[in-house]
Order: sequence, then structure tokens, then C-alpha cells
Amino acid sequence: MYDIEEVRKDFPILRREVYGRPLVYLDNAATVQKPRQVVEAMADEYYNVNANVHRGVHFLSQQATELHEAARETVRRFLNARSTAEIVFTRGTTESINLVASCFGEAFMREGDEVIVSEMEHHANIVSWQLVQARKGIRLRVIPMNDRGELLMDEYEKLFNERTRIVSVTHVSNVLGTVNPVRRMIEIAHAHGVPVLVDGAQSAPHFAVDVQALDCDFFAFSGHKVYGPTGIGVLYGKESWLDRLPPYMGGGEMIGHVSFEHTTFAAPPLKFEAGTPDYVATTGLARALDYVSRLGMDQIQVHERDLTHYALERLRRIPGMRILGEAAEHDAVVSFLVGNIHHLDMGTLLDRLGIAVRTGHHCAEPLMHRLGVEGTVRASFALYNTRAEVDALAEGIERVSAMF
Ligand code: PLP
Repeated sequence: MYDIEEVRKDFPILRREVYGRPLVYLDNAATVQKPRQVVEAMADEYYNVNANVHRGVHFLSQQATELHEAARETVRRFLNARSTAEIVFTRGTTESINLVASCFGEAFMREGDEVIVSEMEHHANIVSWQLVQARKGIRLRVIPMNDRGELLMDEYEKLFNERTRIVSVTHVSNVLGTVNPVRRMIEIAHAHGVPVLVDGAQSAPHFAVDVQALDCDFFAFSGHKVYGPTGIGVLYGKESWLDRLPPYMGGGEMIGHVSFEHTTFAAPPLKFEAGTPDYVATTGLARALDYVSRLGMDQIQVHERDLTHYALERLRRIPGMRILGEAAEHDAVVSFLVGNIHHLDMGTLLDRLGIAVRTGHHCAEPLMHRLGVEGTVRASFALYNTRAEVDALAEGIERVSAMF
């Protein structure tokens, strides 16, 4: 196991105080804090290397290009993809899902065709498909879940028919913490000849993901949730699919040759990367993936699952506590409500105690409707959180409860 106190020294922000109290940062599902190694690598690139990538013959441009393409290789290794041609840089999970919805919808979906999503999707994986719905008249079919927050696999199987074109499902719910059985879901989809997009925004930061073992067709994640910078993300796509999808945006980098009469496109991944990429952010992302890989994704998972179970046990002892999300396989997110205390009041008062949690619908309004609530309080854990911070959260909740 890694030394948590040593690890915390890599994150200067964790030494901050807010309202005169030590910061307890439990909003990690929204974004995580960054280790020095990431920020320093980016500063170093701006100070010492900076030049636009791919187009230059000069020294700096070649060095920047090498760093950028080395970052792609780091991502490939992190996901165990077959080739760097399968790694597309985007701005984040949202853009990755929009890219697939838009390009796949354009090429392979017609009026009446169907996409299967689940009841626990983030808006990114709902609205992207609704945009295709508005353009092409496709239908969204929704996998229901039980009251513990587990998808109903029998109902999932029943949704397939001759109009099903793609399944797009979250790996881990950002509200319930449920880890969905995506390996099995992919097997079922493939048995029907249907490809699967996995939204990995809440899985890639927390446990090892192997896209070949999953056999997913697409996998999306965000840099900023995996200790990298904001504004960078990844779309993994099987080469056979990326070859067949039309481009997403037009511009520089994504072309073969251009004339006013006819333009040819570059091969993937560049076909999907129009314009100057955020080549400094890709370096930051690579250093972040190096960082978590050095600690070990399996170690991170053990640590965070321990915190999650400890938190669930501790919070359940609080009078009036209602945990939302009781799935057997539960990752580093705990959503809750206490008595009839409004989630916003709870979040605001916890903040005054130095405890940062998120409140509201967590970009999952349809899930809130299913749960019959307007919003929840959400505590979410990262590799640097401690049991003492969980205790601070529980004591904070007890203090706030006593005020009502
Ligand atoms: N999908 C899930 C499950 C998420 O939790 C999030 C962010 O919270 C997203 C998608 C969107 O990620 P981003 O805003 O980084 O694009």
C-alpha cells in the first residue's frame, strides 16, 4: 500500500484551510486535485518547449510533437488499447460522447433506430443522443434499475430488437456509486451485433480499465477526473469503428489533401482532431496517468473501496440517514439525505466546517426523478482521502443535523 501522508504532500491544495479549518475535499467525482508532478510538467513545457505540434520542421515543434504523441502512447498503455490509432484526444468525456453520438448517428442511424442508455446516465450521455434524436428521429430506450441502484439485466436484454444500433452506458454511476456489469452488458450487446460505448468518467480514475478485456467498442474519460488538467479527455475507439466513422469537425490536422473541389481526410486518430490540440494538457494527462500507475490502480481501488465501505457504515449510524445507492458493487461515491434537511442546506453548512461536498442533481435529473428526490448530498473519494476525513464528514453531518 502507498504511504498516504507522503502522497498528500504531492497535492499542495490539501494543506489549505477554509474558514479557518483544514480543508476536507470530498468533491472528487466533480474534479480531483492535481499533484505537483502534473502542474510542474506543464509549466516546464510552456517555459522550455512550447511550439505548435505536427506542422513544424524546427526543433521545438518536433520536441512538442514527440511529447504529445508520447502522451498518446501513455494513454494507450493505461487503457491497454491495441494501438495509438485508437486513442483520440478530446476536451473530456462530454466531447467524447458527443463525438460518437454525432458521427455514429450520422453514419449508422436512421429514423426509428434505437440507442439503449440506462436510468442512471449523466446528462452527457442523454442529451448527446437527444441531439441525434432531433436531427434523425432516433429513439432512446432506457434500462431500468432496482431500488438499490442496480440495472435490471433481464430488462436490458428485452430492449434489443432489429432497430437497436448502439448501447451507451455508464461504467460507474456518479450519483449512486454503482459499478455496472459492463463486461456482461457488452457480451449481450455483441451477441445482438450491437456496439457499446462505455462512459468511463467515474471508472478510469478508480480502478484498472482494460478496453481489450472489456471488448468495448468505445470508451470515454476525462483528464481532470484522473489527476490531469482540465480541457483534455480521451475517446478510445476500436480502429474498425474509427475507420468507418465520418469526421466530427473540419479544419487543420484532420485532412489528407484539400482543394475547393475535394478534400481527403487523415487516418484516425487525427481524423477526429481538427485544429491545434491542447498539447500541453496531453503532457499533463500523461504525467497524471504515470502518477496513478506508479501508485498502482489496484492499490488505489483497495484504498478507495475501504474508505467507501467505512463511510457507508459510519453514515448509516446517523439518525435519519438515507443512503441513495446500495448496490452490491459500490465505488467511491456516497449520496445521501438526512431527515428532511434540504441538500443545499446540508452542503452549505458542511462547507462552513471546511468540508467540500456536492449537492443537487449531479447532472442526472432523470435519475433524481426515479429516486423521487430533487437532489442529494454527494461525498466522493480520491486516492488521497483518509478515514479521518470520513470521520470529519460524519461528525459534520451530525452537527448540522443537531441544528435542525
Ligand atoms: N459522465 C459521468 C458519469 C460523469 O460523472 C461526468 C462528470 O461528472 C461526465 C460524464 C462529464 O464529464 P466532463 O464534464 O468531464 O466532460
